[in-house]
Amino acid sequence: MFSNRITQLLKINYPIIQAGMIWASGWKLASAVSNAGGLGLIGAGSMYPDVLKEHIQRCKAATNNPFGVNLPLMYPDINKHIEIIIEQKVPIVFTSAGNPTTYTPYLKQQGITVIHVVSSSVFAQKAAAAGVDAIVAEGFEAGGHNGKEETTTLVLIPAVRDAVKIPVIAAGGIATGRQMLAAMVLGADGVQVGSRFVCTPEASSHLNFKEAVLNAKEGDTLLSLKKIGAVRLLKNNFFNAVREAELRGDDEEQLKNLLGRGRAKKGMFEGNVEEGELEIGQVSALIKEIKPAAEVVNEIWNEFENALTKPIL
Ligand code: NDP
Ligand code: NDP
Repeated sequence: MFSNRITQLLKINYPIIQAGMIWASGWKLASAVSNAGGLGLIGAGSMYPDVLKEHIQRCKAATNNPFGVNLPLMYPDINKHIEIIIEQKVPIVFTSAGNPTTYTPYLKQQGITVIHVVSSSVFAQKAAAAGVDAIVAEGFEAGGHNGKEETTTLVLIPAVRDAVKIPVIAAGGIATGRQMLAAMVLGADGVQVGSRFVCTPEASSHLNFKEAVLNAKEGDTLLSLKKIGAVRLLKNNFFNAVREAELRGDDEEQLKNLLGRGRAKKGMFEGNVEEGELEIGQVSALIKEIKPAAEVVNEIWNEFENALTKPIL
């Protein structure tokens, strides 16, 4: 059986983590990935506290393996989420989009393994100093909320590897075993995969969104809304409206008005693929099929092992 710092830390068979994704990763996806030997994450960013509680309880009933919750730190009800996570004895928390010094010591005191998502080696060092157990280093290729500096995974992973001693999980642009091997060669101890898991029956996102991801080609996603956050979006009517607004120099307030409330839900959960916000990574161009999450985990792992034994020269 494969064993390294990440499989030991998280008590999993393969160092493959399914990213916590708003409107996509509820208990069904998270438990399916954990049952397959990876680590499933419930994406709490789109869940009201009661909904999160329900998903944790259902996840516990559906798997005996470890699973975690991804907690975006900008979330409005964060303290309630943390209370639920502790009360429900969730063993692992991935924090993102915020300052890791605020909550890491408290979560660690409760015996929780804490992993923080960063997009630069400076943030990686800050997270390590805050006491996290590992880092997710997420490159520019990733879907959804992204680093403003646009550092690609190929550059970010070796930089973060050299900056911190704790385990590093590579993210952004990874959907296959060959990409996983490349990330490990660059210095990662494991990978976090998002977009590939959107195209599974277990993902709670709308079928229209999954089909739009299957149809995506190279160049169909771009980083936008940099003035108010930086998100990688799939091109559609809403994306075009944002681009026009950005080209004419709309300010922060005007962009927030254009975004409105619930755009992400409209696109990814309700399936309005023209007017909603569709957050997906560049790697969508390589995804051709909807298949069960367990198959995705097995395929990534088998391709990784085959690529590992194949001579490069
Ligand atoms: P279940 O199979 O138990 O139920 C699915 C539920 O989702 C149904 O009640 C259905 O309502 C509802 N639903 C479907 N589409 C929408 C929508 N566009 N807006 C609001 N509700 C919708 O699903 P789960 O066990 O996976 O989910 C349990 C709860 O968690 C549900 O309330 C679900 O909406 C929510 N959830 C939230 C996620 C998030 O990221 N916030 C992700 C996944 C689920 P109906 O009966 O009217 O068809
Ligand atoms: P919105 O503010 O547009 O909408 C909030 C969504 O989250 C709603 O769909 C709501 O569901 C759901 N939700 C779940 N829990 C809560 C809660 N406790 N309070 C309020 N709403 C909740 O958020 P986004 O999903 O687009 O983005 C999340 C955060 O990121 C926001 O603070 C936003 O300002 C920020 N941001 C987002 C960007 C983007 O491109 N999406 C860009 C820059 C910043 P329901 O509809 O069922 O009420």
